[in-house]
Amino acid sequence: MNIGQHLEAARADLAGALRDCPGAHPALEAEILMAHALETPRSFLYAHPELEVPQARAHAFRTQVERRMRGEPIAYITGEREFWSLRFRVTPDVLVPRPETELLVETALELLGNSGPARVADLGTGSGAIACALASERRGDEVTGTDISFDALEVARRNAAELSIRNASFVHGSWCDPLEGAYDCIVSNPPYIAEGDPHLGRGDCRFEPRTALTPGGDGLASIQEIARDATSHLVQGGWLLVEHGVEQGPAARAILSAQGYRSVDTCQDLEKRDRVTLGRKA
Ligand code: GLN
Repeated sequence: MNIGQHLEAARADLAGALRDCPGAHPALEAEILMAHALETPRSFLYAHPELEVPQARAHAFRTQVERRMRGEPIAYITGEREFWSLRFRVTPDVLVPRPETELLVETALELLGNSGPARVADLGTGSGAIACALASERRGDEVTGTDISFDALEVARRNAAELSIRNASFVHGSWCDPLEGAYDCIVSNPPYIAEGDPHLGRGDCRFEPRTALTPGGDGLASIQEIARDATSHLVQGGWLLVEHGVEQGPAARAILSAQGYRSVDTCQDLEKRDRVTLGRKA
């Protein structure tokens, strides 16, 4: 079979198997997996649909299509995901970076503005996506990513090394625990999905680390803990930014206000949904 025929068969198989899977894109995903199997850019597939696929590559491709048909996130199958135009390695030890998290990076960059070299922390860094994105934009800053998972730290360190980011380092511990000294900005995309939320049983979430998705209960416990502890690790006027669920804007603002933060505000994503709440240490 040639490239075009393989793609068409895989598209049909994926469309059938992933009918009820939110965020699935059968045609695009067939191409991503074929490009991965052939180690070519996707554009090559459009230019040469008539080329025969060598047997070993065809076998590898079909195996990966079948994994995807069972719902496994495509990023875990290819082992990578783009975030902030950087290529991150991902494993099942870390959450797959989401495009909506770019708002957190964007907002932090705006707040830091053209201040001099800053100290920035990313709590629960996972793949290191946020920390590396910030460090890549602000080479003079010192960015620290923390995570309670040693496996996640390994992924984050490898990402920073492969992206040649030298101003980000990663330390082990829960949220603020491993931080030393005062920070100008603390950011986090913590677990925030409520315990019984049906999203946990759908799509990519089924395969991601449960602890990266939900703290249990109403989903607000991690935000609460971060807001409480970050005050003692921020400089005066330093910013805290947390990502949260689209219905958690009012609750997140209430949490930050109750902890004494000033200028508390919520930023909305492109779809005008509450996404990131921020506040400033008084
Ligand atoms: N900071 C990582 C990200 O945004 C991981 C977040 C998490 O595991 N909750 O991708």
